This record gives sequence, structure tokens and C-alpha cells, in this order.
Amino acid sequence: MTATNDLLNRYAEALLGVFGRPALVLDRGEGCYVWDVDGVRYLDLLGGIAVSALGHNHPELVAAVSKQVASQIHISNFFTSRAQIELAERLLSLAEAPAGSRVFLTNSGTESLEAAIKLARRTGRRGILAMAGAFHGRSTGALALTAKAAYREPFEPLLPGVRHIPYDDLDALEAALGPDVGAVVLEPIQGEAGVIEPHPGYLAGVRELTRRRGALMIVDEVQTGVGRTGDWFAFQAAGIRPDAMTLAKGLGGGVPIGALVTFGPEVSAMLQPGMHGSTFGGNPLAAAAALAVLDTIERDGLLANATAMGHYFAEAVAALRHPAISGTRGRGLLRAVTFERPIAAVVATQARDAGFIINPVAPDAIRLAPPLIIGRPEVDAFVSALGPIADRAIEEMS
Ligand SMILES: *Cc1c(COP(=O)(O)O)cnc(C)c1O
Repeated sequence: MTATNDLLNRYAEALLGVFGRPALVLDRGEGCYVWDVDGVRYLDLLGGIAVSALGHNHPELVAAVSKQVASQIHISNFFTSRAQIELAERLLSLAEAPAGSRVFLTNSGTESLEAAIKLARRTGRRGILAMAGAFHGRSTGALALTAKAAYREPFEPLLPGVRHIPYDDLDALEAALGPDVGAVVLEPIQGEAGVIEPHPGYLAGVRELTRRRGALMIVDEVQTGVGRTGDWFAFQAAGIRPDAMTLAKGLGGGVPIGALVTFGPEVSAMLQPGMHGSTFGGNPLAAAAALAVLDTIERDGLLANATAMGHYFAEAVAALRHPAISGTRGRGLLRAVTFERPIAAVVATQARDAGFIINPVAPDAIRLAPPLIIGRPEVDAFVSALGPIADRAIEEMS
């Protein structure tokens, strides 16, 4: 029996079954590669779902975390730390936030959305508009913003007042944006829905409508933020400034941390002392990790690399002219490859057997969110394998 099978049998007897049977038991990583417990190497093109921004075992992140661990891990929010303050200042600067903007630090995307929901509630209006296809997390508040019926229905009734409207549809938004709506929450590119990019001008249109109707525009950048799309934050490419933004995933490079950024003094004053909190949020260990991630992205030019490698990947896939591949979607290093037929799940299995980790994000689409350090050799390795992988998937399904 392989180490993998033995451990997965133990997993099944010990872990709650919410994730099904995991595909692999991973042991270690280096750069864009991970190894399983049987010593098999995989090219990690998913990066722990847009989390491992610097790849695995990055020397800067390892050094920063090691140093912080040896000094101080936790202090409680009765106190603060240099790392926490520097991280907040850094996020505000990278987000080009105006004077009076503020940061609340969390431990996950879901928690960042929970903070955003409380912000929305503070408008005094009870309605929140979210988008069809949206994913915002699994807690009962964040789940109310998440669209997928299979995730929601077993737990209803959820937080009241949330309505889902079509994404990338300004007419639908205008029709729904009544005086009861305190906030519009949306992803600048929908990640879990299959890497869905709205038309140019959509985010600017949402900004304009929300401003006119006095509702907050809250962008969920948990997946798109921290360089993933080639900008520090995806909203920046749209030339707008939201009222608030949520972050997590890539921020800590694998160390759990998230944030709510509130833009400007008015929005930032809506959550007053005592109105929100977190035991672990903003702890020095996670803050040091996030600072190292941001420093390394900047120092090593990883925004430009995300843009360049994203283009390179899309062009290489197009050049395959494979009959089963209908195209690519996305921006920077948040990408989907779409297929003519619903073969994505089998493609993902075949890819894994060939040594590549990807994610079947929709029946007809796979998602890639690789480390921002990825280079041409890794992209080439996957693209040259993709045709045969798709062929084998079609063969297996016929
Ligand atoms: C992953 C994700 C979340 C939830 O983040 P968790 O860290 O899993 O709680 C929220 N919003 C978006 C857009 C995401 O991609």
C-alpha cells in the first residue's frame, strides 16, 4: 500500500467529510513544485487556490516568519506591534487609499467579508446586493452573499436582506439599487464562478451608480488582490476606487491573514471602538508574513511577471489550436482554459496523473492561479502537455 493510500484511509476515518476524498497527500514544496508523500513531484499551477503567491518555501517568507516566530507570535488586540502597523500602512499605500482610510486585519477571506457585512449594516440600510455566481465564503453571513444554491440551501434561512442580481449587467443593478440598499458587494473578476471577467466599463458603472444612490461599493479582492491579476488590486485596472475592499488568500503567501480596507474617513468611521474584533486578527506572525509577501512582490517585479506570464500562457494555449479547447479567460495569473465539452473534471485528473495541479472550476473550464514567480519553462511544460491531456480526457469520457 502506498503512503498516500494509507494516509487517505486514515483521513477518511478522522476528518469531517466536507471536502470529500482529497486528491493527494502533500509533503513539501519548493518554488512552483510540490511533492506528495510517495515522492511524486507536481507543478503547482493552482498555488493553494491563489494563496501561495511566492510559491513554496520562498527564502524571504521563510526568513521573515522564522524571525517573527523566534521573537513573538501573538499579543492580543489590547496591544499592537510594529509589523501590524507597517502592514496596514503598506496596504493603504499600495491601494492608493486617500487620507482617512483604514485597515481591519482578519484571518481569512470569510472573516473579511463578515467585517464588510457589518460595515454595510452600519449604513442603516438593510439591503445588500450581491451577484449571481458570486463566492464570498461559507460562514452564515458570507454564505448569504454567496450565490450557489447547493452551498446555501441546507443552511437557510441565512442573513436576510441579500439579493442576487446578474453580474456584469448595469441595467439590472440600476433596477435593483433602491433606497433600501446599503451596499453592493462584488468580485472584480469572479473566481469560483469560473474566472469571469466583466466587460470594460462595468466596474466604473457600478461605482457611478452606487455613488449616485448612496450605497457602498465593496469589492471582494480575496482572490484577485495582492498582484494576482497583474495590479496590486484588480479595481485599480478599472480606474476606480471602491468604498471598501476585502483581502485574504495571497496576502500571507500561505500564512492565514485577511483584511478589510475602508476608503476615506466617512466609511472608516462607520465601525467604531467595540463594534468589531478578532483574537488572532493582525497577529505579528501573520503581519510579518504579509509584509514579506508584499516586499518580495515589489522587489522582484512580480506584478509585471504576472501580467507577462498571463499573456504568454494565453497566447501559448491559443497557438495550440486544439479542437477541444475553446479559449482562455482571465487576467494576469488568474486564468481559465475553457473546453468545447464538459471535460474539465477528467482533464484535471489526467493533468494530475501527468504531474500538474490545476482545478476544474466549472464543468467546461479549468482554473490556474499559479505562484506569481512562475516562469516560461513552467508555462511551457504545462501548455505542451495540455493537448495530450485533453485528448486522453476525451478518450476516457467516450
Ligand atoms: C476564497 C474566497 C473567499 C473566502 O475566503 P476564505 O479564506 O476561504 O474564507 C471569499 N471571497 C472570494 C472572492 C474568494 O475567492
